Parts: sequence; structure tokens; C-alpha cells
Amino acid sequence: MQELSSIWLNGKIVDWKDATTHVLTHALHYGTSVFEGIRCYKTLQGSAVFRLGDHIQRLFDSARIIKMCIPYSHDELYQATLQTIRENQVDECYIRPLVFRGYGEMGVDPTSCEVISAIAVWRWGAYMGEKGLKHGIRAKISSYTRNSMNASSPRAKTSANYLNSALAKTEAKELGYDEAILLDMQGFVSEGSGENIFIVKNGVLYTPHPYSILLGITRDTVIRLALDLEFDVRETHCTRDDLYLADEAFFTGTAAEITPIVEIDGRPIGDGKPGPVTRQLQEIFFRVIRGEEETYIDWLDYVEKR
Ligand code: PMP
Repeated sequence: MQELSSIWLNGKIVDWKDATTHVLTHALHYGTSVFEGIRCYKTLQGSAVFRLGDHIQRLFDSARIIKMCIPYSHDELYQATLQTIRENQVDECYIRPLVFRGYGEMGVDPTSCEVISAIAVWRWGAYMGEKGLKHGIRAKISSYTRNSMNASSPRAKTSANYLNSALAKTEAKELGYDEAILLDMQGFVSEGSGENIFIVKNGVLYTPHPYSILLGITRDTVIRLALDLEFDVRETHCTRDDLYLADEAFFTGTAAEITPIVEIDGRPIGDGKPGPVTRQLQEIFFRVIRGEEETYIDWLDYVEKR
């Protein structure tokens, strides 16, 4: 990882190398942390963070689900994010706010442990490579079941939930695939290890119900863009057969953006190339995040005041 200069830690900007924590940090042992993944893009009017307010809100929602009180307001974290980008003098970056239970009494009960807040940024290109964005990636249905809604709250973006993702991702990569697709407890499609999933069949977009998934902000963006383009979009139960028989499939996520899926479990999706609907949505999405679509300009939060 390429280091930048500064990290925001508990209200102060500190040197990158000084943003460290004790080995008895509660979150390291018991997964008690919430985080976000956000991107800042170069736009026509200067650098802008995509849907920053919505990401900060999801951070607060995640914290509420795990009963952790964030010692800052929404606006303070919003401003701190912009400040961190400015301090590091980057025009494009990935942003990682993290709030976690720190040092205190050891044991599962986190309530005595301090709550630590941090915001780091770094340069991060296409999550699954430029080639993946352009030509699509190969995915595998995981042997791991997605976190279930009454076990670990998939709607909360907690670090604990990402052990499930890491197991699935590692398995997929070891078997020669780029990404995993996890099924939920009932066997319906849920999401990728770090992305939501859509399929296209006969011109209609389908995406899994919001029960056993993280409610992705890119997912929400794509639904809105597709509806505005007058596509029929349905949140539904999807089976693995629906994936195999889809005309097109793609992942959505802040890191993955819109990544076409061209093969699942050794079966080509459609003709094995990114399809026209995926291309159309990719095209508008990249225009939106670069401030080239006036209709969606409110989704951009500019780093410098305009
Ligand atoms: N699902 C999971 C498990 C994820 O980690 C992510 C990435 N945050 C997503 C979906 C997509 O969410 P978003 O579009 O908000 O990045």
C-alpha cells in the first residue's frame, strides 16, 4: 500500500505512521468495529466525494445496530472526511472511516472499552483491475453461506461480517476465480464478498431483496439510474439458476464500481461478454461520478468549497 501523509484520529490530524493501536484493542479480538468505504473522484469542478452524506449515515446506522455510540456528529465526520482528503493533497482517493472499540476490560462485553474514530484515505484504482471493469470478471458461488440477518446483521458494515467475506473471497481466488457470490441461509443469492449483484433478463434488472445484504449505496445509485432510463427494476429472490440463465450480470460497489460478470461457475453469462445494459449503466455511472450529469450533481460533495 502506498502511504500518504496523514490520518484523522479522534478529532486530530496525525502522521500516517502514528495512527496505531494496542494489541489488546477490543475490536481486534471480537470484531467490534464499523466502517465505510467511500470514493473521491476528480470531476469537472474539482474533486468530489460521491454520496458522502449517505455513507456517513450508513456508518451511524451500523453503529446503532451494534449499540456503539459514535462520539462525533454526522456533520463533524462529514467535515473531517473532507479535511483528511485536503491534508493528504490527493485529487482522487478511497476513503475509510472506521469506528472501533479500543482498549478496556478484556472479554466479549465491549461496554467498558473506549470508542476510537479514524479516517484514512489512500489511492486505489479499479478494485478488480481495469481489465475487469472493461472485459468483466469470473465469479464462483461460494461454499460459504452469507451472514444471516439474525446472526450478525448483514446490514451493518461491521468488520466482524468481513470474516465471512474474506473466507469466500480466498476460496474463490484459490480456485482461480476473481470473486465469490454468496447464497443466503435459504439458498437465495445474496451478494459478492464486497459488492451487490444485479442480473439482466429480457431487458429487466433483478437484484436480491435487502434481507441478507449490505444495502449498497452503489446499488441504490444503479437502481435510480436504471429507473430514470425507464428500465424495469425488481428487488426479488434470485436463485443460482437465475444467475446461470441471465443475459447479463454485474457487481456494484464503491470499490468495484460497476464490474461486469461474464462467467459464473464455468458457465458464460449471455455470450460471455459484458452486455449492452451493463455497458449503458457503466457509462452513465462514470459520467455521474465525474460530475458530467447535471441531474445527479447533488450526489457530489466537493472537497473544496465552491
Ligand atoms: N456488499 C458488501 C458485502 C460490501 O462490502 C459492499 C461494499 N461496501 C457492498 C455490498 C456495496 O456497497 P456500496 O455500494 O455502498 O459500496
